[in-house]
Amino acid sequence: MAEQFDAIIIGAGIIGASVGLELSRRGWRTLNVDRLPAAGYGSTSASCAIIRSHYSTLDGTALAFEGYQYWKNWAAHLGVEDERGLARFEEVGCAIMKTESNGYMKSICANLDALDIAWEDWDNAAIMERLPIYDLRSFAPAKRMDDPGFGEATGPSMSGAVFTPQAGYITDPQLATHNVQVAAEAAGAAFLFNADVREIRQSGGKVRGITLANGDDIDAPVVANVAGPHSAIINEMAGVADAMNIKTRALRQEVVHIPAPEGFDYMSRGPVTSDSDIACYSRPETGNHILFGSEDPECDGREWVDPDDYNTEFTDQWQTQALRAGQRVPDLKIPNQAKGVVSLYDVTDDWIPIYDQSDLPGFYMAVGTSGNQFKNAPVAGAMMAELIIATQGGRDHDADPVQFDYLHTKRRANIGFFSRNRKINPNSSFTVLG
Ligand SMILES: Cc1cc2nc3c(=O)[nH]c(=O)nc-3n(C[C@H](O)[C@H](O)[C@H](O)COP(=O)(O)OP(=O)(O)OC[C@H]3O[C@@H](n4cnc5c(N)ncnc54)[C@H](O)[C@@H]3O)c2cc1C
Repeated sequence: MAEQFDAIIIGAGIIGASVGLELSRRGWRTLNVDRLPAAGYGSTSASCAIIRSHYSTLDGTALAFEGYQYWKNWAAHLGVEDERGLARFEEVGCAIMKTESNGYMKSICANLDALDIAWEDWDNAAIMERLPIYDLRSFAPAKRMDDPGFGEATGPSMSGAVFTPQAGYITDPQLATHNVQVAAEAAGAAFLFNADVREIRQSGGKVRGITLANGDDIDAPVVANVAGPHSAIINEMAGVADAMNIKTRALRQEVVHIPAPEGFDYMSRGPVTSDSDIACYSRPETGNHILFGSEDPECDGREWVDPDDYNTEFTDQWQTQALRAGQRVPDLKIPNQAKGVVSLYDVTDDWIPIYDQSDLPGFYMAVGTSGNQFKNAPVAGAMMAELIIATQGGRDHDADPVQFDYLHTKRRANIGFFSRNRKINPNSSFTVLG
Protein backbone atom coordinates (compact mmCIF):
# COMPACT_ATOMS: atom_id res chain seq x y z
CA MET A 1 0.00 0.00 0.00
CA ALA A 2 1.45 3.40 -0.92
CA GLU A 3 2.19 5.68 1.99
CA GLN A 4 -0.96 7.57 2.77
CA PHE A 5 -1.00 7.72 6.56
CA ASP A 6 0.79 9.97 9.01
CA ALA A 7 0.36 7.43 11.82
CA ILE A 8 -0.56 3.80 12.24
CA ILE A 9 -2.04 2.79 15.59
CA ILE A 10 -1.78 -0.88 16.42
CA GLY A 11 -4.98 -1.73 18.32
CA ALA A 12 -8.54 -0.43 18.23
CA GLY A 13 -9.44 -0.84 21.89
CA ILE A 14 -10.70 2.12 23.90
CA ILE A 15 -7.21 3.63 24.12
CA GLY A 16 -6.10 2.88 20.56
CA ALA A 17 -9.34 4.33 19.19
CA SER A 18 -8.89 7.41 21.39
CA VAL A 19 -5.36 7.96 20.04
CA GLY A 20 -6.81 7.73 16.51
CA LEU A 21 -9.54 10.22 17.39
CA GLU A 22 -7.21 12.78 18.93
CA LEU A 23 -4.58 12.63 16.20
CA SER A 24 -7.17 12.85 13.44
CA ARG A 25 -8.80 15.82 15.15
CA ARG A 26 -5.39 17.47 14.98
CA GLY A 27 -5.32 16.95 11.23
CA TRP A 28 -3.31 13.72 11.07
CA ARG A 29 -4.20 10.93 8.65
CA THR A 30 -4.45 7.92 10.95
CA LEU A 31 -5.06 4.21 10.53
CA ASN A 32 -6.04 1.98 13.45
CA VAL A 33 -5.20 -1.65 12.68
CA ASP A 34 -6.69 -4.48 14.72
CA ARG A 35 -6.50 -8.25 14.30
CA LEU A 36 -10.06 -8.59 15.69
CA PRO A 37 -13.22 -7.90 13.64
CA ALA A 38 -14.38 -4.71 15.41
CA ALA A 39 -13.32 -1.92 17.74
CA GLY A 40 -13.20 -2.71 21.45
CA TYR A 41 -13.31 -6.49 21.00
CA GLY A 42 -10.03 -7.08 22.87
CA SER A 43 -9.52 -6.64 26.60
CA THR A 44 -11.69 -3.50 26.48
CA SER A 45 -14.76 -5.68 25.90
CA ALA A 46 -14.03 -7.53 29.18
CA SER A 47 -13.51 -4.34 31.15
CA CYS A 48 -15.53 -3.66 34.27
CA ALA A 49 -15.33 -0.05 33.04
CA ILE A 50 -15.39 1.43 36.51
CA ILE A 51 -14.89 5.17 36.62
CA ARG A 52 -13.37 6.39 39.90
CA SER A 53 -10.77 8.91 40.93
CA HIS A 54 -9.12 7.45 44.01
CA TYR A 55 -5.59 6.29 43.14
CA SER A 56 -2.44 5.85 45.24
CA THR A 57 -0.49 8.63 43.55
CA LEU A 58 -1.45 12.27 43.09
CA ASP A 59 -0.69 12.10 39.34
CA GLY A 60 -2.84 8.97 38.99
CA THR A 61 -5.68 10.66 40.86
CA ALA A 62 -5.46 13.82 38.74
CA LEU A 63 -5.52 11.77 35.52
CA ALA A 64 -8.55 9.77 36.66
CA PHE A 65 -10.50 12.86 37.72
CA GLU A 66 -9.82 14.38 34.31
CA GLY A 67 -10.98 11.10 32.73
CA TYR A 68 -14.21 11.23 34.74
CA GLN A 69 -15.05 14.61 33.16
CA TYR A 70 -14.97 13.09 29.67
CA TRP A 71 -17.40 10.31 30.60
CA LYS A 72 -19.65 12.87 32.30
CA ASN A 73 -19.65 14.88 29.05
CA TRP A 74 -19.50 11.92 26.66
CA ALA A 75 -21.86 13.23 23.97
CA ALA A 76 -20.04 16.58 23.86
CA HIS A 77 -16.64 14.85 23.71
CA LEU A 78 -17.73 12.73 20.75
CA GLY A 79 -19.62 15.46 18.95
CA VAL A 80 -21.29 12.88 16.66
CA GLU A 81 -24.24 10.52 16.67
CA ASP A 82 -23.66 6.76 16.65
CA GLU A 83 -26.46 4.68 15.13
CA ARG A 84 -25.87 2.15 17.93
CA GLY A 85 -26.45 4.82 20.60
CA LEU A 86 -24.01 6.20 23.13
CA ALA A 87 -22.47 4.31 26.05
CA ARG A 88 -24.11 5.22 29.36
CA PHE A 89 -22.30 6.39 32.49
CA GLU A 90 -24.11 5.14 35.60
CA GLU A 91 -22.90 7.53 38.27
CA VAL A 92 -23.70 5.42 41.33
CA GLY A 93 -20.71 6.58 43.42
CA CYS A 94 -17.96 4.46 44.92
CA ALA A 95 -17.65 3.22 48.51
CA ILE A 96 -14.10 2.33 49.52
CA MET A 97 -13.78 0.38 52.75
CA LYS A 98 -11.25 1.80 55.18
CA THR A 99 -8.80 -0.96 55.97
CA GLU A 100 -5.36 -1.39 57.42
CA SER A 101 -4.06 -2.28 53.97
CA ASN A 102 -5.14 1.07 52.49
CA GLY A 103 -3.98 3.01 55.56
CA TYR A 104 -7.64 3.71 56.40
CA MET A 105 -7.67 5.84 53.23
CA LYS A 106 -5.65 8.68 54.77
CA SER A 107 -3.15 9.28 51.97
CA ILE A 108 -5.73 8.61 49.26
CA CYS A 109 -8.10 11.18 50.82
CA ALA A 110 -5.18 13.62 50.96
CA ASN A 111 -4.87 13.18 47.17
CA LEU A 112 -8.62 13.74 46.77
CA ASP A 113 -8.43 16.88 48.93
CA ALA A 114 -5.45 18.22 47.02
CA LEU A 115 -7.54 18.07 43.84
CA ASP A 116 -10.86 19.21 45.36
CA ILE A 117 -12.52 15.87 44.64
CA ALA A 118 -15.63 15.38 46.78
CA TRP A 119 -15.77 12.55 49.31
CA GLU A 120 -17.90 11.62 52.31
CA ASP A 121 -16.79 9.89 55.47
CA TRP A 122 -19.18 6.99 56.07
CA ASP A 123 -19.43 5.15 59.37
CA ASN A 124 -20.67 1.57 59.42
CA ALA A 125 -24.28 2.74 59.92
CA ALA A 126 -24.07 4.78 56.71
CA ILE A 127 -22.73 1.74 54.83
CA MET A 128 -25.59 -0.40 56.17
CA GLU A 129 -28.15 2.21 55.18
CA ARG A 130 -27.02 2.03 51.55
CA LEU A 131 -26.20 -1.70 51.63
CA PRO A 132 -28.42 -3.43 54.23
CA ILE A 133 -27.40 -6.75 52.62
CA TYR A 134 -23.89 -6.39 54.10
CA ASP A 135 -22.16 -8.20 56.97
CA LEU A 136 -19.63 -5.70 58.31
CA ARG A 137 -17.37 -8.07 60.20
CA SER A 138 -13.76 -8.08 59.12
CA PHE A 139 -12.26 -11.09 57.30
CA ALA A 140 -8.76 -9.79 56.46
CA PRO A 141 -6.33 -10.93 55.32
CA ALA A 142 -7.85 -12.53 52.23
CA LYS A 143 -7.34 -16.27 51.98
CA ARG A 144 -7.79 -19.03 49.43
CA MET A 145 -10.99 -21.02 49.85
CA ASP A 146 -9.07 -24.15 50.88
CA ASP A 147 -7.36 -22.29 53.75
CA PRO A 148 -8.70 -23.72 57.04
CA GLY A 149 -9.45 -20.18 58.31
CA PHE A 150 -11.41 -19.17 55.21
CA GLY A 151 -14.72 -17.45 55.96
CA GLU A 152 -13.99 -16.94 59.65
CA ALA A 153 -14.30 -13.38 60.87
CA THR A 154 -11.02 -11.95 62.14
CA GLY A 155 -12.49 -8.78 63.62
CA PRO A 156 -15.87 -7.68 64.93
CA SER A 157 -16.42 -4.80 62.56
CA MET A 158 -15.16 -2.74 59.65
CA SER A 159 -14.02 0.84 60.19
CA GLY A 160 -16.38 2.64 57.84
CA ALA A 161 -15.80 3.73 54.27
CA VAL A 162 -14.97 6.70 52.10
CA PHE A 163 -17.69 7.45 49.56
CA THR A 164 -16.86 9.35 46.38
CA PRO A 165 -20.07 10.43 44.62
CA GLN A 166 -18.34 11.28 41.30
CA ALA A 167 -17.82 7.66 40.30
CA GLY A 168 -19.66 4.80 38.64
CA TYR A 169 -19.31 2.61 35.58
CA ILE A 170 -19.86 2.52 31.83
CA THR A 171 -22.55 0.00 30.94
CA ASP A 172 -21.00 -1.18 27.68
CA PRO A 173 -17.26 -0.61 27.13
CA GLN A 174 -17.35 -2.09 23.62
CA LEU A 175 -20.10 0.33 22.61
CA ALA A 176 -18.06 3.19 24.11
CA THR A 177 -15.19 2.17 21.81
CA HIS A 178 -17.52 2.05 18.82
CA ASN A 179 -18.59 5.58 19.76
CA VAL A 180 -14.96 6.69 19.66
CA GLN A 181 -14.41 4.96 16.31
CA VAL A 182 -17.42 6.78 14.82
CA ALA A 183 -16.12 10.11 16.15
CA ALA A 184 -12.64 9.35 14.80
CA GLU A 185 -14.01 8.42 11.38
CA ALA A 186 -15.97 11.67 11.33
CA ALA A 187 -12.61 13.41 11.81
CA GLY A 188 -11.12 11.46 8.90
CA ALA A 189 -9.58 8.45 10.67
CA ALA A 190 -9.48 5.02 9.02
CA PHE A 191 -9.85 1.62 10.68
CA LEU A 192 -8.69 -1.73 9.34
CA PHE A 193 -9.96 -4.89 11.05
CA ASN A 194 -8.98 -8.59 10.78
CA ALA A 195 -5.46 -7.33 10.15
CA ASP A 196 -2.73 -8.96 12.23
CA VAL A 197 0.51 -6.97 12.55
CA ARG A 198 3.54 -9.27 12.25
CA GLU A 199 6.41 -6.91 11.67
CA ILE A 200 7.43 -3.35 12.47
CA ARG A 201 9.59 -2.24 9.56
CA GLN A 202 12.42 0.25 9.98
CA SER A 203 14.82 2.07 7.71
CA GLY A 204 17.48 4.65 8.38
CA GLY A 205 17.13 4.12 12.13
CA LYS A 206 13.46 5.15 12.08
CA VAL A 207 10.16 3.36 11.96
CA ARG A 208 8.88 2.89 8.42
CA GLY A 209 5.63 0.97 8.78
CA ILE A 210 4.06 -2.39 9.48
CA THR A 211 3.67 -5.69 7.71
CA LEU A 212 0.49 -7.70 8.15
CA ALA A 213 0.07 -11.48 8.34
CA ASN A 214 -1.29 -11.47 4.76
CA GLY A 215 1.97 -9.89 3.58
CA ASP A 216 0.61 -6.36 3.06
CA ASP A 217 2.97 -3.53 3.92
CA ILE A 218 1.54 -0.27 5.20
CA ASP A 219 3.91 2.65 5.60
CA ALA A 220 3.82 5.60 7.96
CA PRO A 221 6.47 7.66 9.76
CA VAL A 222 4.71 7.02 13.10
CA VAL A 223 3.57 3.70 14.56
CA ALA A 224 1.96 3.52 18.02
CA ASN A 225 1.74 0.35 20.05
CA VAL A 226 -1.69 0.29 21.73
CA ALA A 227 -2.00 -3.48 21.62
CA GLY A 228 -3.23 -4.09 25.18
CA PRO A 229 -2.08 -7.45 26.57
CA HIS A 230 -0.05 -8.00 23.38
CA SER A 231 2.02 -4.87 24.02
CA ALA A 232 5.20 -6.74 24.96
CA ILE A 233 5.03 -8.78 21.75
CA ILE A 234 4.70 -5.62 19.65
CA ASN A 235 7.56 -3.95 21.57
CA GLU A 236 9.70 -7.02 20.85
CA MET A 237 8.81 -6.76 17.15
CA ALA A 238 10.01 -3.15 17.19
CA GLY A 239 13.16 -4.13 19.07
CA VAL A 240 12.53 -1.59 21.83
CA ALA A 241 11.59 -3.86 24.75
CA ASP A 242 15.03 -4.65 26.17
CA ALA A 243 16.03 -1.02 26.62
CA MET A 244 12.94 -0.16 28.65
CA ASN A 245 13.24 0.11 32.42
CA ILE A 246 9.57 -0.77 32.94
CA LYS A 247 8.24 -3.92 31.29
CA THR A 248 4.73 -5.14 30.49
CA ARG A 249 3.25 -8.63 30.90
CA ALA A 250 -0.17 -10.22 30.37
CA LEU A 251 -1.92 -11.20 33.60
CA ARG A 252 -4.91 -13.53 33.61
CA GLN A 253 -8.00 -12.37 35.52
CA GLU A 254 -11.41 -13.83 36.37
CA VAL A 255 -14.42 -11.63 37.05
CA VAL A 256 -17.45 -13.06 38.84
CA HIS A 257 -21.12 -12.24 38.14
CA ILE A 258 -23.63 -13.36 40.81
CA PRO A 259 -27.35 -12.52 41.18
CA ALA A 260 -27.94 -9.93 43.92
CA PRO A 261 -29.86 -11.20 46.97
CA GLU A 262 -33.51 -11.60 46.13
CA GLY A 263 -35.64 -8.51 46.70
CA PHE A 264 -32.71 -6.08 46.70
CA ASP A 265 -32.55 -3.78 43.69
CA TYR A 266 -28.81 -3.66 43.24
CA MET A 267 -29.03 -1.82 39.92
CA SER A 268 -30.45 1.29 41.55
CA ARG A 269 -29.02 0.97 45.07
CA GLY A 270 -25.64 -0.67 44.62
CA PRO A 271 -22.59 1.60 44.38
CA VAL A 272 -19.21 0.65 43.01
CA THR A 273 -17.23 -0.74 45.95
CA SER A 274 -13.59 -1.38 46.73
CA ASP A 275 -13.18 -3.73 49.67
CA SER A 276 -9.59 -4.67 50.42
CA ASP A 277 -10.78 -6.54 53.55
CA ILE A 278 -12.15 -9.30 51.28
CA ALA A 279 -9.89 -8.34 48.32
CA CYS A 280 -12.80 -7.71 45.96
CA TYR A 281 -14.11 -4.71 44.07
CA SER A 282 -17.67 -4.71 42.82
CA ARG A 283 -20.36 -2.93 40.85
CA PRO A 284 -23.92 -3.55 39.67
CA GLU A 285 -24.11 -5.75 36.56
CA THR A 286 -26.98 -6.15 34.08
CA GLY A 287 -29.85 -8.35 35.25
CA ASN A 288 -29.59 -7.29 38.91
CA HIS A 289 -26.31 -9.12 39.26
CA ILE A 290 -23.28 -8.03 41.24
CA LEU A 291 -19.91 -8.13 39.52
CA PHE A 292 -16.90 -8.96 41.73
CA GLY A 293 -13.33 -8.46 40.53
CA SER A 294 -10.16 -9.29 42.41
CA GLU A 295 -7.98 -6.77 44.23
CA ASP A 296 -5.06 -9.16 43.69
CA PRO A 297 -4.24 -10.35 47.23
CA GLU A 298 -0.82 -11.93 47.84
CA CYS A 299 -2.29 -15.39 48.48
CA ASP A 300 -3.69 -15.66 44.95
CA GLY A 301 -0.32 -15.43 43.25
CA ARG A 302 -0.05 -13.90 39.79
CA GLU A 303 -0.84 -15.88 36.66
CA TRP A 304 1.40 -14.35 33.94
CA VAL A 305 0.45 -15.84 30.57
CA ASP A 306 1.10 -15.88 26.86
CA PRO A 307 -1.74 -13.68 25.53
CA ASP A 308 -2.13 -16.03 22.57
CA ASP A 309 -2.29 -19.19 24.66
CA TYR A 310 -4.04 -19.09 28.03
CA ASN A 311 -6.93 -20.81 29.77
CA THR A 312 -10.17 -19.00 28.91
CA GLU A 313 -12.28 -21.22 31.21
CA PHE A 314 -13.14 -20.38 34.82
CA THR A 315 -11.03 -22.10 37.47
CA ASP A 316 -11.28 -22.34 41.27
CA GLN A 317 -10.29 -18.66 41.29
CA TRP A 318 -13.92 -17.98 40.38
CA GLN A 319 -15.21 -19.91 43.44
CA THR A 320 -12.63 -18.28 45.71
CA GLN A 321 -13.73 -14.80 44.60
CA ALA A 322 -17.42 -15.71 44.84
CA LEU A 323 -16.96 -17.05 48.37
CA ARG A 324 -15.00 -13.95 49.38
CA ALA A 325 -17.94 -11.89 48.12
CA GLY A 326 -20.26 -14.09 50.16
CA GLN A 327 -18.41 -13.08 53.32
CA ARG A 328 -19.58 -9.49 52.79
CA VAL A 329 -23.00 -10.35 51.30
CA PRO A 330 -24.09 -13.46 53.20
CA ASP A 331 -27.39 -13.82 51.28
CA LEU A 332 -25.62 -14.23 47.94
CA LYS A 333 -26.73 -17.47 46.31
CA ILE A 334 -23.66 -18.67 44.49
CA PRO A 335 -24.81 -20.49 41.34
CA ASN A 336 -23.33 -23.83 40.30
CA GLN A 337 -22.61 -22.49 36.88
CA ALA A 338 -19.87 -19.86 36.89
CA LYS A 339 -20.77 -16.64 35.07
CA GLY A 340 -18.54 -13.67 34.39
CA VAL A 341 -15.43 -12.96 32.38
CA VAL A 342 -11.96 -14.41 31.88
CA SER A 343 -9.57 -11.90 30.35
CA LEU A 344 -6.14 -10.28 30.55
CA TYR A 345 -4.62 -7.16 32.01
CA ASP A 346 -1.48 -5.69 30.47
CA VAL A 347 0.51 -5.04 33.63
CA THR A 348 3.65 -2.95 34.23
CA ASP A 349 6.15 -3.53 37.03
CA ASP A 350 4.43 -0.86 39.16
CA TRP A 351 0.87 -1.12 37.79
CA ILE A 352 1.12 2.43 36.39
CA PRO A 353 0.74 2.73 32.59
CA ILE A 354 3.40 3.71 30.07
CA TYR A 355 2.43 6.61 27.81
CA ASP A 356 5.64 7.34 25.99
CA GLN A 357 7.92 7.40 22.97
CA SER A 358 10.55 4.67 22.55
CA ASP A 359 14.20 4.38 21.61
CA LEU A 360 13.13 3.82 17.99
CA PRO A 361 12.30 7.20 16.44
CA GLY A 362 8.67 7.27 15.29
CA PHE A 363 7.61 4.36 17.50
CA TYR A 364 5.34 5.20 20.47
CA MET A 365 3.42 3.27 23.08
CA ALA A 366 0.32 3.54 25.26
CA VAL A 367 0.64 0.25 27.10
CA GLY A 368 0.77 -1.42 30.51
CA THR A 369 -2.68 -0.18 31.44
CA SER A 370 -2.68 -2.61 34.38
CA GLY A 371 -6.42 -3.22 34.60
CA ASN A 372 -7.16 0.38 35.49
CA GLN A 373 -7.02 2.69 32.48
CA PHE A 374 -10.37 2.31 30.72
CA LYS A 375 -11.51 5.40 32.58
CA ASN A 376 -8.48 7.35 31.39
CA ALA A 377 -8.67 6.40 27.72
CA PRO A 378 -10.03 9.74 26.47
CA VAL A 379 -7.25 11.65 28.27
CA ALA A 380 -4.59 9.11 27.29
CA GLY A 381 -5.62 9.56 23.65
CA ALA A 382 -5.18 13.33 23.87
CA MET A 383 -1.93 13.04 25.83
CA MET A 384 -0.47 10.62 23.29
CA ALA A 385 -1.46 12.91 20.41
CA GLU A 386 0.32 15.87 22.01
CA LEU A 387 3.35 13.75 22.85
CA ILE A 388 3.59 12.37 19.30
CA ILE A 389 3.17 15.78 17.66
CA ALA A 390 5.75 17.40 19.95
CA THR A 391 8.28 14.59 19.54
CA GLN A 392 7.88 14.36 15.76
CA GLY A 393 8.43 18.11 15.76
CA GLY A 394 11.87 17.59 17.30
CA ARG A 395 11.22 17.66 21.06
CA ASP A 396 13.38 15.29 23.12
CA HIS A 397 10.68 14.01 25.47
CA ASP A 398 13.14 11.86 27.45
CA ALA A 399 15.28 14.87 28.35
CA ASP A 400 12.52 17.47 28.45
CA PRO A 401 9.16 15.76 29.10
CA VAL A 402 6.13 17.14 27.31
CA GLN A 403 3.64 18.84 29.63
CA PHE A 404 -0.05 18.35 28.96
CA ASP A 405 -2.83 20.74 29.98
CA TYR A 406 -5.95 18.94 31.12
CA LEU A 407 -8.94 20.26 29.22
CA HIS A 408 -11.48 20.04 32.03
CA THR A 409 -9.65 20.20 35.34
CA LYS A 410 -7.11 22.75 34.08
CA ARG A 411 -4.21 21.03 35.77
CA ARG A 412 -0.86 20.62 34.04
CA ALA A 413 0.34 17.02 33.79
CA ASN A 414 3.91 15.93 33.25
CA ILE A 415 3.69 13.10 30.69
CA GLY A 416 7.16 12.05 31.89
CA PHE A 417 5.43 10.54 34.93
CA PHE A 418 4.36 7.70 32.61
CA SER A 419 7.84 7.16 31.15
CA ARG A 420 9.02 3.69 30.10
CA ASN A 421 12.30 4.52 31.81
CA ARG A 422 10.97 5.74 35.17
CA LYS A 423 12.03 4.07 38.37
CA ILE A 424 9.40 1.71 39.76
CA ASN A 425 7.01 4.02 41.62
CA PRO A 426 7.07 2.96 45.29
CA ASN A 427 3.80 4.81 46.01
CA SER A 428 1.77 2.48 43.79
CA SER A 429 -0.55 -0.09 45.38
CA PHE A 430 1.04 -2.69 43.04
CA THR A 431 -2.49 -3.92 42.34
CA VAL A 432 -5.31 -3.11 39.95
CA LEU A 433 -6.08 -0.12 42.18
CA GLY A 434 -3.06 1.65 40.66
C1 LIG B 1 -11.29 -7.91 33.43
C2 LIG B 1 -10.90 -6.47 33.28
C3 LIG B 1 -11.50 -5.51 34.08
C4 LIG B 1 -11.13 -4.17 33.96
N1 LIG B 1 -11.77 -3.24 34.71
C5 LIG B 1 -11.46 -1.93 34.57
C6 LIG B 1 -12.19 -0.96 35.29
O1 LIG B 1 -13.13 -1.26 36.02
N2 LIG B 1 -11.85 0.36 35.13
C7 LIG B 1 -10.82 0.74 34.31
O2 LIG B 1 -10.54 1.94 34.23
N3 LIG B 1 -10.11 -0.19 33.61
C8 LIG B 1 -10.43 -1.49 33.71
N4 LIG B 1 -9.76 -2.44 32.99
C9 LIG B 1 -8.64 -2.01 32.14
C10 LIG B 1 -9.11 -1.47 30.81
O3 LIG B 1 -10.16 -2.24 30.31
C11 LIG B 1 -7.92 -1.45 29.87
O4 LIG B 1 -6.91 -0.63 30.44
C12 LIG B 1 -8.30 -0.88 28.50
O5 LIG B 1 -9.46 -1.49 28.01
C13 LIG B 1 -7.15 -1.09 27.54
O6 LIG B 1 -7.52 -0.61 26.27
P1 LIG B 1 -6.51 -0.76 25.07
O7 LIG B 1 -7.15 -0.07 23.93
O8 LIG B 1 -5.17 -0.33 25.49
O9 LIG B 1 -6.36 -2.35 24.86
P2 LIG B 1 -7.28 -3.48 24.23
O10 LIG B 1 -8.73 -3.22 24.41
O11 LIG B 1 -6.77 -4.78 24.72
O12 LIG B 1 -6.99 -3.33 22.68
C14 LIG B 1 -5.79 -3.77 22.10
C15 LIG B 1 -6.10 -4.24 20.72
O13 LIG B 1 -4.89 -4.54 20.06
C16 LIG B 1 -5.16 -5.58 19.16
N5 LIG B 1 -3.90 -6.25 18.81
C17 LIG B 1 -3.04 -6.89 19.62
N6 LIG B 1 -2.02 -7.40 18.92
C18 LIG B 1 -2.24 -7.08 17.62
C19 LIG B 1 -1.56 -7.35 16.41
N7 LIG B 1 -0.40 -8.04 16.38
N8 LIG B 1 -2.09 -6.88 15.26
C20 LIG B 1 -3.25 -6.18 15.26
N9 LIG B 1 -3.95 -5.92 16.38
C21 LIG B 1 -3.45 -6.35 17.55
C22 LIG B 1 -6.08 -6.49 19.92
O14 LIG B 1 -6.83 -7.29 19.04
C23 LIG B 1 -6.93 -5.51 20.70
O15 LIG B 1 -8.18 -5.26 20.13
C24 LIG B 1 -10.11 -3.79 33.06
C25 LIG B 1 -9.53 -4.75 32.24
C26 LIG B 1 -9.93 -6.08 32.33
C27 LIG B 1 -9.30 -7.10 31.43
